[in-house]
Amino acid sequence: MIVRTPEQRAALVEGGRRLGVILEELAKMVAPGVSTETLDEMAERLIREGGDEPSFLGYTPEGFPRAYPASLCVSVNDEVVHGIPNERPRTLKAGDIVSLDLGLTHEGIVVDSALTVPVGKVDKTAYALMDATREALEAAIAAAQLGARVGDISHATERAFVGTGFSVVKALGGHGVGGGVHEEPYISNAGKPGTGPVLEAGMVLALEPIASEGKAAVVLGNDGYTYRTKDGSRAAHFEHTILVEEGGPLVVTRRPSEPQLFRKNEL
Ligand code: MG
Ligand code: MG
Repeated sequence: MIVRTPEQRAALVEGGRRLGVILEELAKMVAPGVSTETLDEMAERLIREGGDEPSFLGYTPEGFPRAYPASLCVSVNDEVVHGIPNERPRTLKAGDIVSLDLGLTHEGIVVDSALTVPVGKVDKTAYALMDATREALEAAIAAAQLGARVGDISHATERAFVGTGFSVVKALGGHGVGGGVHEEPYISNAGKPGTGPVLEAGMVLALEPIASEGKAAVVLGNDGYTYRTKDGSRAAHFEHTILVEEGGPLVVTRRPSEPQLFRKNEL
């Protein structure tokens, strides 16, 4: 969507704040022995307690065979995105990494955010994969300046993984958001600078680098939703919803514990 009124902007910012708080709560619950279903139930409860709606529950993305059956996506280890938490619940084990992806609709406006967290202690490569993916998200955000192009975001994302030894998953990417779960433009996680649609004031975008520790190829599972890496290597996923504005992108889904990051013109 394009935010055109102060009321829309306020609702977007408040929805993003709420989503950040909830995702952080869910991330804190992640521990060995916790079921993916429990995380989903808590996500739905926390969203509804605030008077909002889970955006993913019952939503059918274009080209998908059925409605998504949960509020939260929980993707463990080689699951890349869209892991279903409540049909065949999994119990988290120490050493796993788990991606939580959540959408919340506040006053009709959809916000979308994700993060990957360790379950107990994990190995060094897993921490490095998570760090690299989180850093790629910050690079993508920094590229989302008013007047830049979608390809600038894609390029910044792709470039962030150069030299890390990890593979950016090019088959998946970000998207417009706000008026619905998935809107135009599609934002590839790899691309050429200076190409694609120009970023306009008020554009609401979900930026979401996804990377694997092995090869980039992904396969879609029999449940119609869960993407896994083809080579079985682990994947990480970080996502924020941003508002393109003069003075720099405003990240609306920052979590309370995330370091305070400043807009470019405030540095
Ligand atoms: Mg998401
Ligand atoms: Mg998204």
